[in-house]
Amino acid sequence: MALTGIEIYKYLPKTNCKKCGFPTCLAFAMKVAQKTVNITICTDLSAESRAALEAAGRPPIQLVTIGGDSKKIEVGNETVMFRHEKTFFHPTGFVYRLKDTTPVDSILQEVQAIAEYKVERVGRFLAMDGFAIENASNDAATFAKTVEAVKSKTDLPLILISKDPAAMEAALAKATPGKPLIYAANKDNWEKMADLAVKNKCPIAVTSSDGLSELATLAEQINKKGIEEIVLDPGARDFGTSLTTLTQIRRLALKKNFRPLGYPIITFPGEGAASVDLEAMLAGQQVAKYAGIVVLDHFSPAMVYPLLTMRLNIYTDPQKPIQVTPGIIQIGTPKPTSPVCVTTNFSLTYFAIAGELEAAGWASWLVVCDTEGLSVLTSWAAGKFDAEKIAKTIKNFKVADNVNHRNVVIPGHVAVLRGELEEELPDWKIMVGPREAVDVGGFLKQNWKN
Ligand code: SF4
Repeated sequence: MALTGIEIYKYLPKTNCKKCGFPTCLAFAMKVAQKTVNITICTDLSAESRAALEAAGRPPIQLVTIGGDSKKIEVGNETVMFRHEKTFFHPTGFVYRLKDTTPVDSILQEVQAIAEYKVERVGRFLAMDGFAIENASNDAATFAKTVEAVKSKTDLPLILISKDPAAMEAALAKATPGKPLIYAANKDNWEKMADLAVKNKCPIAVTSSDGLSELATLAEQINKKGIEEIVLDPGARDFGTSLTTLTQIRRLALKKNFRPLGYPIITFPGEGAASVDLEAMLAGQQVAKYAGIVVLDHFSPAMVYPLLTMRLNIYTDPQKPIQVTPGIIQIGTPKPTSPVCVTTNFSLTYFAIAGELEAAGWASWLVVCDTEGLSVLTSWAAGKFDAEKIAKTIKNFKVADNVNHRNVVIPGHVAVLRGELEEELPDWKIMVGPREAVDVGGFLKQNWKN
């Protein structure tokens, strides 16, 4: 949790010597709290105070990075229990589990298909984030060979799964550089696994199915070896245990500032679900509360697309709606006779109406008004989508220059604007379209005469 100016002030020398360029220590503390100056500027700060400030300023949930510079998974550094309190910062990473008992050719086919999978939603490309490779064969050489083969096929981040330090060492030799996640240290192997994490500069997961107390002790022991990037697996697998345990960890980290559990969490929904459908549902629950990485045992577009969409929704800043740029957008190849439709610049609204026009085969001119990223009804209620705004947008973007008619379709939800809009645009005929985007094709078929 970020320190306040007063909390920082307590650690300062309080001599008001002005060497930092500020008139008082308090003024300096306020600037440090605002993150506009660095604490190191105070040359009189004792080493103990500096260490204490650094420790107190550490995020309650450590940021952990898996993978290289080009493709990486960043998880942790969250500050709130609920998205509406502020926002969630680092989206859950979706990783697909491979096993080294599967023939390499089959593994590589899976890797290619999953790595190439991507889907566009509201102007963003959604995709899987990485692969976990499990040493199911219990053979170090087979594990290393599989890791090497996967690494040759993809630059997506890797998680290496083995309890055997010797097998892990062999796999790390093939996976580094690339900063894979070592999974996992437990009460029996943690010292050797921690040494491998230090040597290879990799993040490490700790696991315990013996309660949060043992998990916290293990994380603390590993942290004392100088490892900051730790991921927790509390061993919770089914719906109920996962929900309560992950919530408890998040609360302890954020509300109690309990450092030993202040790390992101990894989950394995396939181990807690009796079917693929239940695995997808459990993964969804864990995205909401509070997994940093979800390892899936199954993959299909039908399963993954809803999860990716849900993640996008949960990790979108509620105070900053996803927006598109206002203007006049061509749907297909519109002609001077093509329809003119008006919408807002909220991404979901824009892509809904654009998609329906395209799917219905209506090449059109889509006039996108700047409503600060709000949807039709919300922006109308907030006074950001009124007749004046629509008229101004139509005039500013010279819509009339592109068409040989003067007909414009407004969303059905703002039918009430028709009269005012007729006054603002006396040369235009205002048509009230359907309330839902899905009906726009049918509406134009019935009503568009040009
Ligand atoms: S340099 Fe340090 S001690 Fe001097 S005024 Fe600034 S904060 Fe205070």
